Amino acid sequence: MDTIVAVATPPGRSAIGIIRLSGPHSLDIIRALARDEQFAPGPNTVVLKKIVSNSGEPLDYALVSYFQAPHSFTGEDMVEISCHGSPVILRALLDLIQSFNARLAGPGEFTLRACQNGKLNLSQAEAVRDLINAQTDAAALQAVRQLRGELSRALQASKQKLIQIIVRLESAIEFVEDDLPQIEVEEIKGQIAEVLTRVKELAGTYSTGQLLREGLKVAIVGRPNVGKSSIFNRLLRLDRAIVTDLAGTTRDTITESLSLRGIPIFLTDTAGIRKAGDKIEEIGVERTHRAMADADLLLVVIDGSAELLTEDFAVLSQAAKGRHLVVVNKRDLTEPPGLEKQIGSLSPVVHFSALTAEGLENLITAILAPFGTVDSERVGFLVTDSRHYDLLLRSERSLEDSLNRVIERAGEELVLVGLHNALRFLGEITGETTTEDILSEIFSTFCIGK
Ligand code: GDP
Repeated sequence: MDTIVAVATPPGRSAIGIIRLSGPHSLDIIRALARDEQFAPGPNTVVLKKIVSNSGEPLDYALVSYFQAPHSFTGEDMVEISCHGSPVILRALLDLIQSFNARLAGPGEFTLRACQNGKLNLSQAEAVRDLINAQTDAAALQAVRQLRGELSRALQASKQKLIQIIVRLESAIEFVEDDLPQIEVEEIKGQIAEVLTRVKELAGTYSTGQLLREGLKVAIVGRPNVGKSSIFNRLLRLDRAIVTDLAGTTRDTITESLSLRGIPIFLTDTAGIRKAGDKIEEIGVERTHRAMADADLLLVVIDGSAELLTEDFAVLSQAAKGRHLVVVNKRDLTEPPGLEKQIGSLSPVVHFSALTAEGLENLITAILAPFGTVDSERVGFLVTDSRHYDLLLRSERSLEDSLNRVIERAGEELVLVGLHNALRFLGEITGETTTEDILSEIFSTFCIGK
């Protein structure tokens, strides 16, 4: 096995920059860097060392942490060099290290080694990546739970049960014959159904899990001056968009991310939809239409202090084709009679005032409602990865197939095909039955240094 090296901290200047080494030459390399052949740190210790360049000049003073195999993240000998966070020093150190028997690590290669050395299973390794990429506290919490092995444990019970059924069927010679007591057939049916229920339950958490991981794209639309930018600012709780009473101020689309009850939201404020006055505004309106097509939810804002105009109806009818929520803004002002009737009964409506923030909690609830979100801090483990979800679905289909075969009293080898497939799919989630191709595809989505 060769020794790999990477910078583990983000590019740019920082107080500290960390270089990570993993592999059998890690200690030799640090001895060479420090020009100290006798250097023999104890396992899990941190020592301050002078790092010397090839020309003999001191390069930096760095804290060297040593983790002895197998008690390290990767399971190999590892060294972490915490030097000063200057890109110049990091670059020089990286070059120097590569001249001593180490090569640059690929994306996620440290975690891949941790997997290969049995430190983590595949779903835990993926959790490391998800934790780094998490966009909200709730998403980070789910990644930590997966890293702690919650998914693996949830699957373990089903896999064990499946193996029991497989062993039982493989030893049943007379299964096809009528002399196999009905009671035994019922028992096998019940056992498969039990595993199927568990797999279904787990797969059923994906819609919320995906939301937590990928977030929701929400676009604010409406004719000029209804209060779109004011709502955008209210939700962001900062003055990002320019608010004026001149129609057509928001000429382009602006997107910001925020977290609503733990769900990441990508909120887009769009140019008011009206007949474009000039070329720039025309581009803005065009981008609005694109943002509308792209959004998971449209907030159709109308001015609650005025009668609906033709432009409002135009936006409403366009938005009604997809998921939308009508926000009747300016509730601090008097509403003209019959406004609700004008909106129609088909659209969900929420009243709000961007000026006073009255109705903010209702607005947030209404935004999240169509996505069936539960309180993300109280829910149990959620499946957040599309790869895991896909494998759970495949496992589900195989189990259903097996169940049908039992019901029609088909030969046990036919029942077994589905059971073996289901077991394989569940095993692919944790990496027991994953091919090299799939592994390299998964790890290519990691960052370098992890
Ligand atoms: P946009 O063109 O739809 O983005 O609208 P703006 O957010 O720029 O708001 C247009 C005008 O309406 C500004 O003068 C805002 O101060 C005002 N406005 C926005 N929301 C409210 C509200 O809830 N109540 C009242 N009274 N005025 C509002």
